[in-house]
Amino acid sequence: MKSKRKTSQSKNAIMKNKGYDIPVKKNEDYVVDIDNMGYDGEGVGKIDNFTIFVAGAIIGEKVMVKIVKISKNFAFGKLLEIIEKSMYRVDPVCDIYKNCGGCNIQHIDYDSQLDFKTNRVKQVISRIGKLDDVVVHSAIGMESPYNYRNKVQLPVSNIDGDVKIGFYAARSHDIINMEVCHIQDSVADLVVKLTRKWITEFNIESYNEENHNGVLRHIMIRKGIRTGEVMVVLVTNGTNLPHIEEFITLISKKIKGLVSIVQNINTVKTNVILGPICLTLWGKDTITDYIGEFKFEISPLSFFQVNSIQTEVLYSKALEYANLSGGEVVLDVYCGTGTISLFLSQKAKKVYGVEIIPQAIDNAIMNAKENTINNVEFIVGDAEKVIPELIGKGVKADVVVVDPPRKGCDKSLLEAICSMKPKNIVYVSCDPGTLARDLGILDELGYKTLEIQPVDMFPQTAHVECVARIERK
Ligand code: SAH
Repeated sequence: MKSKRKTSQSKNAIMKNKGYDIPVKKNEDYVVDIDNMGYDGEGVGKIDNFTIFVAGAIIGEKVMVKIVKISKNFAFGKLLEIIEKSMYRVDPVCDIYKNCGGCNIQHIDYDSQLDFKTNRVKQVISRIGKLDDVVVHSAIGMESPYNYRNKVQLPVSNIDGDVKIGFYAARSHDIINMEVCHIQDSVADLVVKLTRKWITEFNIESYNEENHNGVLRHIMIRKGIRTGEVMVVLVTNGTNLPHIEEFITLISKKIKGLVSIVQNINTVKTNVILGPICLTLWGKDTITDYIGEFKFEISPLSFFQVNSIQTEVLYSKALEYANLSGGEVVLDVYCGTGTISLFLSQKAKKVYGVEIIPQAIDNAIMNAKENTINNVEFIVGDAEKVIPELIGKGVKADVVVVDPPRKGCDKSLLEAICSMKPKNIVYVSCDPGTLARDLGILDELGYKTLEIQPVDMFPQTAHVECVARIERK
């Protein structure tokens, strides 16, 4: 047994919880050897074979924790002290890292962050997918893993003149006031600073989640990384927005590249940030940006990948794995605003993009037009229904790309896809667990996964994106 209890334990230290032995007690301190990493980048250790999760601890470390929460099969420990420090530990660049819920692995050096992501993919592919002969490449990282995000959405509060703008603390709605965010494009810092000044000066009322009163809910900043164009969106609980002229004057003078100020109206009691109505207060309705050679007009409501640099890496990998020669019919399932479809269209005879959100399809059609791409057709609807309908109409895909949300693909969809007997399937995934499950299903359906390339789209956080190359056996 590696771990040992530090504090003296009373006779009833081993609690009985619904028949299970629990060797730790809440609010007591223990020493834990961290011998694994959890999915959220937290350290994982054991006390008498009972799993303890410790946010902020790193594999190889010995740490002192206070047990703060106990469940049936595991407990959460709050990191109190690092007794033996990992050589991969670095001082986070961010002053508010400990409290802010934005990043969770900034205390690990970047190469080790990438190793953690690669290993996580390897582990789940073997454990969940039961696929042991798949090549998992090392995660492709960024040259500079900071200031990469092109979009930030921050809640705002003004309680008796105490103005806070920043991310929520982890698992709470407490705003951690932010001066500088190291993963956003630095223009966001200046917009936040000026917005805070404006709110303070004119005592702009913030939205109150509890009673659903008040005005200003969120501020969103978007930047076209290649064009330098900046959009600022104020999300309000209704049309009323006092002193907006002063806001426009202030930021239009000081923000380089600003081309658009929008008011977004969200009157619903919800955690969803943006409402359906956008009023352009100043400048254009959209900003322009590029992925590869393709041009995109981005409105406040458009989905656009937040890491423009790594998106090119990811999409180029998807295109490489699709292995197109120019004559193929390609299906891009879960196509969003059609970005991957456009990438694929260069090397295919015809691309069908399928997506459930009508506005995303509107954007996709516009994007194709904007880029004078004529061999792409977008279909709005649930992929599980649309794909069998396309098959019914005689469409036969040579190559299929899927990029589902975290929950992965429905088994019936994978069966429908395989029934078309495509030569290649490319699976783009934001959740290694569901990717592994689905690759296991595809294997049973006669499709072998050859290789997986993790791409680091979200440095300093535990998220990992993957592209898998799958071939008909
Ligand atoms: N490929 C796109 C977007 C991927 S995100 C890109 O790279 O930008 C996943 C997309 O799947 C979202 O746009 C979501 O709206 C869509 N989606 C979710 N469930 C769906 C379903 N059942 N059928 C079709 N699309 C769906």
